[in-house]
Amino acid sequence: MKYLDEFSDPDLAAGLLEQIHASVTRPWALMEVCGGQTHSIIRHGIDQLLPDGIEMIHGPGCPVCVTPLETIDRALAIAAQPDVIFCSFGDMLRVPGSGRDLFTVRSEGGDVRVVYSPLDAVRLARENPDREVVFFGIGFETTAPANAMTVRQARRLGLRNFSLLVSHVLVPPAIAAIMEAPRCRVQAFLAAGHVCSVMGTGEYPPLAAKYRVPIVVTGFEPLDILEGVRQAVGQLEAGRHEVRNAYPRAVRDEGNPAAMAMLRDVFEVTDRTWRGIGMIPGSGWRLAERYREFDAEHRFAVGDVRTAESPLCRSGEVLQGLLKPDECAAFGTRCTPRNPLGATMVSSEGACAAYYAYRRLS
Ligand code: SF4
Repeated sequence: MKYLDEFSDPDLAAGLLEQIHASVTRPWALMEVCGGQTHSIIRHGIDQLLPDGIEMIHGPGCPVCVTPLETIDRALAIAAQPDVIFCSFGDMLRVPGSGRDLFTVRSEGGDVRVVYSPLDAVRLARENPDREVVFFGIGFETTAPANAMTVRQARRLGLRNFSLLVSHVLVPPAIAAIMEAPRCRVQAFLAAGHVCSVMGTGEYPPLAAKYRVPIVVTGFEPLDILEGVRQAVGQLEAGRHEVRNAYPRAVRDEGNPAAMAMLRDVFEVTDRTWRGIGMIPGSGWRLAERYREFDAEHRFAVGDVRTAESPLCRSGEVLQGLLKPDECAAFGTRCTPRNPLGATMVSSEGACAAYYAYRRLS
């Protein structure tokens, strides 16, 4: 498969590993921010091939995992209303809220539909003018432009029965929060390449300078990860803390200006609570005032939502890199993908799901 197999070439991987092994003189802890990178690392056993002293810490970059419990509960309450068609990507359906999930709502008669694009939800709104169609808009900078475009499309079509339940989060403030945490051990970051393909690299140099931490923009294939590690370790060994782009085939320093312009038109920055982590100032987007009519939170009064996490679930520590998934007592026993106690066991980018899928029971 052209443009994919090239980035799994075993000879090239061996060469990169050799360079990493040769350059390491002491232990280092690196965080891969994105859950997609976590899955690649665990699936290909990359962490086991690295020198003993190099620890990969799994970061909070799973959008499903960090969607606040209160927002999940709000989604469940909206989806249960009789006149609503509630649309979501499939990952969200099994994510546990305080007492149930979207699958349960559907089994109880709620009209919950899996869509593959937010524009599918707009189409449903056009086809069902007598129903309210709500799309669950979650994700990082990667998915936000498509959701912003959807809102503009809904306005262009004059739809009055379409709204977005927004839970978008931003990566750079999360990096700052990780570095400010008292138990932080992270010494370098592999930044998520797809996020940077939208927002560019411009927000990272101040973070690298303030926290004296190398940040290497990294892709998702095995060679991408190894090259990111090689560059990060090289900087650590040399005492540097710079921003490097190791994913130039997808990321330009300026990002995608058209996508950023659309985001700035439709959204405004807000404080956001991350599930398991807590509130991170300036780490989210909400719909801008001029698009408030499309905001599901304003359209549906579902009252106060009382949240209750599973007392067994330690996904907050997993998301902050303080605990490996298989160190959770419930891992693989009380908590499995079929019966998840936390979002990190459900999501296709969740660290617990990655450990479970690839059987890393240590
Ligand atoms: S294994 Fe399950 S219970 Fe433990 S942290 Fe992960 S999601 Fe939570």
